[in-house]
Amino acid sequence: MPIYEYKCQDCGTRFEKLIYKEEDVKCPVCGGKNVKKLISLFSSVGSDKGNICSSCSSGNCSTCK
Ligand SMILES: [Zn+2]
Repeated sequence: MPIYEYKCQDCGTRFEKLIYKEEDVKCPVCGGKNVKKLISLFSSVGSDKGNICSSCSSGNCSTCK
């Protein structure tokens, strides 16, 4: 199943969501629909929240996105 990562343009929250088809995706924090699809993942992400940085431990770097 495809898991897409989105970023809310309003509050900056990054979240992942299983998408079966293109549909409206809302930010789980502010409920805004102004979200941007980032990348697609395939069920290899653990239970972290927003930290998709697998090549370093900072989780907030811009170099290994
Ligand atoms: Zn938001």
